[in-house]
Formats: sequence, C-alpha cells, structure tokens
Amino acid sequence: MQENSSTLNIVRIGGYITFSSLKEVGNRILESFQGIIDEFELSHHDAPLLDSVDAYLLTTILHEEFGGHTLGITDADLKTNDEDEFYNSIFGGKNPQNDVAVVSTRKLGPTEINSKSDYDLYIDRTLKVSLHEVGHNFGLTDHGSYKVARNGSLCPMSKGEFNKFGYWGYVRVIIDGRGLNFCDECTYFLKNMYGYKSQSAKLLEH
Ligand SMILES: [Zn+2]
Ligand SMILES: [Zn+2]
Repeated sequence: MQENSSTLNIVRIGGYITFSSLKEVGNRILESFQGIIDEFELSHHDAPLLDSVDAYLLTTILHEEFGGHTLGITDADLKTNDEDEFYNSIFGGKNPQNDVAVVSTRKLGPTEINSKSDYDLYIDRTLKVSLHEVGHNFGLTDHGSYKVARNGSLCPMSKGEFNKFGYWGYVRVIIDGRGLNFCDECTYFLKNMYGYKSQSAKLLEH
C-alpha cells in the first residue's frame, strides 16, 4: 500500500458534518503528517441512517469502495466486539487487514451544539480522534502512559485508562489534552518509516 501513502481518503458517512469542517480536519491532519500524507480527498459514502454500525463491517466496506489510506467519519455509534483486541477505543478503530480507520463523532460533542464554541470543540475532538486512528494506519501504537510532545500537549497517540476517568473524564483529560504534534518517539518512528518532516521544518518553509 506504500504507493497510496501520500493520499488520504476522508469519507463522510451521513450528512451531519459540513464539508468545510471536514476540509479543516483534513488540512490539520496534513500538517501533523507533513511529508507523509501529501493530500486528502473528501468523499461521501451513502449509508442508511443507523444508530450504530459494526466497525469492522464499515472498514471492510470502505476498503472495497475506496482502497488505500482511508479515514471514515460517522455519527453512528461504532459497535465492536469487546473480546476482540482489534479496536483501540470506542471512539475509533483501525482494521489491521487494510489501511482503513473509522471515527465516531456520536459521543464527542457537547450534548447539544448551540454555539460556535460547542461546534469548534466537537470538530477539535473529531480531529484529535482522527489523528490517533490515522496514526495507527501509519503503524504508530498507543501510549499507555502519558507522552508529551515538545509543545507540552499530549501526543495524539496517548491513551489513558478508560476506567480511571469514566467516559467524560476521558474525553476531557485525554482527548482534549492531546495536541496536534507527535512526541519524539512517534516522530522518530515516522521519520524512519516514511521520512517524516517535523513541524519545525515546516515553519522554516513558510
Ligand atoms: Zn489507539
Ligand atoms: Zn507519541
């Protein structure tokens, strides 16, 4: 799949999120994966309006439809088999048999989105969960303990103990605490695998 590494398909499943927000998410993913993902393509996948969807099935369908590196974003709940170690969190998952990751935005927003700041928070969390899952697509693994990037924020691959925080505690502490830059360990891995350019290299180019 190396030849497809430079393009990321971002697929909207359902119509709840605007294309301009998806574009913003895409642009920020490109910044975090500079030198690895060169461009993204936005697509829409028509699906019946469902409350929940089997994550494995969804990744399989998206792989058949799009192939290559793909990120599916849905507002349906992603259902997984608890006994299966295959998914990393209930917010998102990655199919190890292909390069498809899926993210559910269902439980990322404030209960009601009434203002721009509510909406911005919702998009920010969607971005952070997306970075984590796309990170898995490129071979990164979870940090069981806190790993901090150079700017002081948690690395996007940080994963805390779910039981310790409870659902909303987890969202606020771990997901909101993540930044957009990877820690040294992840950066080193990406650099060796794909010739990742660091954020500082990017700043010099501008
Ligand atoms: Zn993970
Ligand atoms: Zn890291």
